[in-house]
Parts: sequence; C-alpha cells; structure tokens
Amino acid sequence: AKQQGKNNYQLYSFSRDISSYKKYVLEKDMRKAIVNEDFEMYYQPQVEPGTGIIQGAEALIRWNHEEWGLVSPGEFIPLAEENHLIHNISDWVIKKVCLQLREWRDKDLTLRPIAINLSPIRFFKKGLVELVKQQLELHQIPAKYLEFEITESSLLKSEKGVLSTIAALKELGVKIAIDDFGTGHASMNYLREFQADTIKIDQVFIKSSDGQNKKDRAIVSSILHLAKGLDMKIVAEGVEEYDQLEFLKQKECDLIQGYLFSKPVPAEKFEQMLGTGYLK
Ligand code: C2E
Ligand code: CA
Ligand code: CA
Ligand code: CA
Repeated sequence: AKQQGKNNYQLYSFSRDISSYKKYVLEKDMRKAIVNEDFEMYYQPQVEPGTGIIQGAEALIRWNHEEWGLVSPGEFIPLAEENHLIHNISDWVIKKVCLQLREWRDKDLTLRPIAINLSPIRFFKKGLVELVKQQLELHQIPAKYLEFEITESSLLKSEKGVLSTIAALKELGVKIAIDDFGTGHASMNYLREFQADTIKIDQVFIKSSDGQNKKDRAIVSSILHLAKGLDMKIVAEGVEEYDQLEFLKQKECDLIQGYLFSKPVPAEKFEQMLGTGYLK
C-alpha cells in the first residue's frame, strides 16, 4: 500500500508539472491572442419554454489556439484571472458584444438582451461602468439590451463594492443576473439587496430535475417560487432533456438555456436564429 501511495504521488507531481508548463505557454499565447484578437464570441439562445421564442442569449467566449484548437473558457478564464489579463479580455468582450448588437440593429433584426459574464476581478476594478456607458453611447444601443452575469459566489466577496457597482450599472439601465444560483450559499437577503433582474439556476440542479432526483426538483421549484415572489426573471441553465423542459414549463420557468434548444453558436448562426425569432 505504501508503494502505491508513493507511485500516486509521483504521478500527481508529474501531471502538475505538465499543467504548470501548459499554464506558462498559455499565458504567453494569451498575450498574443489579445493583440491578434484570436477570441470569438459564441451566443447561446435563451428561449420561452412554451413557444420557443428567443428572448435573449448568453455571450460565451471562445479562444481558437493555433496548436491546441479551441481552448475552453473554463480553462483559460481562471488563468486570465490569476495573471490579470482578464481585464483586457473582459473589456474586449464588452466592446465586441456592443459592436455586435449594433450590427444586428443595423440589419433591422429584433434585438434581444445579450448577457455578458463578468469576472469578479474586472467587476472590482475601476472604469467598468464608464466603459459600458461609453460603448452603449458609441453604438447607440439602449442599455436594456445588455445584461451582466455575476456569480453568486463573487457577490459574497465584498458587499460594499459590489453594491455600488451594481447600482451604477443599473443606473445606466443595464440588467444584472445572478449566475450559478444555488451553488454559492447566498442568503435570501442578498436577493433583496442586490436587486438583480434575473436569477440563473445552476445546471447541477437541472441535470437531475427529470424525476431522477426528487430533492433537486424541490430545490428548483422553490427557487422558481422565490423568484416569482421577488419579481425576478428566471433562467434555467443546462437543459438537455425534454423531461426537464416539461417540468420547468409546468413550474412556469421564464426562460430555458441548454443543449435541448441549442448549443452556443457563432454570431452568424445566432443572427439566423434571430431572423427566424424562435427555435423548435
Ligand atoms: P457559465 O457562465 O456557467 O456558462 C454556461 C456554460 O454551460 C457554458 O460553457 C455553456 O456552453 C454550458 N452549457 C450550456 N448549456 C448546456 C447544456 O445543456 N449542457 C451542458 N453540459 N453544458 C451547457 P462554456 O461556454 O464552456 O463556459 C464555461 C464558463 O466559462 C462559463 O460558465 C463562464 O463561467 C466562463 N466564461 C465563458 N465566457 C466568458 C466570458 O466571456 N467572460 C468570463 N469572465 N467568463 C466566461
Ligand atoms: Ca454565465
Ligand atoms: Ca452559469
Ligand atoms: Ca459557472
């Protein structure tokens, strides 16, 4: 048993070396990618469960790395938060989405709110509200077409700073969504204080809400009930199965986001979806 433990340890540190090397290369490449704009925004529709009407989308970043192919944001965003390149990336995302909204408006498409993920690190740095205001004005986009997603756990970090930035963003007229709701242990009181417009139920609760797990269904039901009472819009994430959709429809969930309707798609593809207006 002892020997096995030793082997395990060696294996562990070996893979850790690889990942720190990969980290080093990724950081170097990330700087290049920012300059070359090797990033691309994908859009995942948010639809009404009953009609399939597209009411919005979440913007999700993609990085096409010349050697590794698509690098998942789940991998490079945490790294960008560590090395502070997240500031450049976040600002690029905000500019890109505003420009995209302008292009869609110029094509006379019916605009829908686009949700941008906001890293807590960018959230706490100065200049965010000014940048958003400036980009909206530059492209003449009404503020209601932007929504910022902030994770429940990042809300818990620094109440004061968060509250004033959220207030300033709301003052502009942009929407605020609490992302990954249910995973960060925020108290009910937070929901009242932050005055978010939208709650996004984390996919872990949706995954088993097809009847396999009674407890998750009970949690989803009570979040939906709570959101109704607080006049908040609710989006269920990670909906992959028809049973889940049926359950959420029955419980009057406002919007559905998940592979069942569509994976995140490139801008041109989402533009076609906007043109049609609904998904089946
Ligand atoms: P998130 O904000 O929770 O985004 C939802 C993730 O769930 C996305 O993964 C999306 O593709 C995935 N997803 C959507 N529907 C389904 C489904 O039905 N089944 C499954 N299995 N997955 C589904 P993605 O695009 O890989 O993004 C991962 C995370 O990276 C995001 O989680 C977010 O935290 C972060 N991220 C993505 N784009 C950005 C960005 O532009 N800025 C920042 N700061 N973070 C971003
Ligand atoms: Ca999100
Ligand atoms: Ca989420
Ligand atoms: Ca997440």
